[in-house]
Amino acid sequence: MQIATEAAQIGLDWDSRTGAVTVPIYQTATFRHPGLGQSTGYDYSRSGNPTRQALEQGIARLDNGCRGFAYASGMAAIASLLLLFRQGDHLVVTEDLYGGTYRLFEKIFNQYGLEFTYLDTSDEAAVLRAWRPTTRALFVESLTNPLLKVADIGRLSAICKDRGALCIVDNTFLTPYLLRPLDLGADIAVYSGSKYLAGHNDTICGLVTVKEPELAERVSFHQNAAGAVLGPQDSWLTIRGMKTLSVRLDRQQENALAIARWLRHHPLVRKVYYPGLEDHPGHELLQRQGKGFGAMVSFEVSDPALVERLLLKTNLISFAESLGGVETLITFPEVQTHADIEPETRARLGINSVLLRLSVGIEDAGDLIDDLDRAFSQEEQP
Ligand SMILES: *Cc1c(COP(=O)(O)O)cnc(C)c1O
Repeated sequence: MQIATEAAQIGLDWDSRTGAVTVPIYQTATFRHPGLGQSTGYDYSRSGNPTRQALEQGIARLDNGCRGFAYASGMAAIASLLLLFRQGDHLVVTEDLYGGTYRLFEKIFNQYGLEFTYLDTSDEAAVLRAWRPTTRALFVESLTNPLLKVADIGRLSAICKDRGALCIVDNTFLTPYLLRPLDLGADIAVYSGSKYLAGHNDTICGLVTVKEPELAERVSFHQNAAGAVLGPQDSWLTIRGMKTLSVRLDRQQENALAIARWLRHHPLVRKVYYPGLEDHPGHELLQRQGKGFGAMVSFEVSDPALVERLLLKTNLISFAESLGGVETLITFPEVQTHADIEPETRARLGINSVLLRLSVGIEDAGDLIDDLDRAFSQEEQP
């Protein structure tokens, strides 16, 4: 079955007693036992809650995984996955990583003896050079943030498999609708569900899918033991958002391509990063391993003074963090999302004082372009 169908029908057959079309919100902490040594299958909501399970089964189906897991946030999901490792283990990680993930690795898990090497994971030779006897995992973003580099998930998974390491893919920017990491050979996919999956800038949520039952057992143990689970209300909101994933993303991608093309011809724009443009270095690879290019567009303006003008003079487009929702947002990665990355690293990566990032929403593309055009052409206030 196609993902659009699977997504629209998440939770549909959950409540056979009433036939409710949407999964009920089981707002309960605990469950009555029918007898001594007996259970309905539910004991306590940290260990399992029906609304959360509907979401967990839903994401597992979309990703073709054996199990899914829902957490209180994307960061909680990633932190929970890092519990799979122990002191002295080494992970190879995408270098232009989501800032919060970098902070979690460097400021917290570093202290517990995990070691991380950051590099361009679209460069396979660099990955092999960085490999150590203690390397236990590769952590890659399927589409990086904010420079939208594309890694070859199939090749990287094969490297991991050969060496007995896990391949973990943060697939937040593409979602299962556009790329399925587990089908390409990865062991684990992780999502900030707060972005495209929930899709309405109204929920914080993290999701994980796992390919093999044995690994899923370990992830499940940590989810329950560490306990950063998603509550039933937010599970329901995430399911509600996921039902329209395909139509939102179709529209968002269409808009993103139109905006990227328009930006490319603007005299005050120096550079445009969008993998849907044919000359983007990851264009062909993403076309081969996925089903689309996403709706994030980063671009460099010709002068740092233009940054503030664009952030403040756009009206439809909101100056706000986050991404993936129906509303178009603009951010300034150097200051907003990537402030925790060392300045030299940022400079080397190209996260500089003229780089802006758009998360393109579902509005009319012409209206969005008009908004940018107006902001570009406004004179500075005297
Ligand atoms: C937002 C984001 C996260 C963190 O998710 P939260 O839901 O904000 O905790 C992780 N990875 C990527 C790529 C993200 O964009």
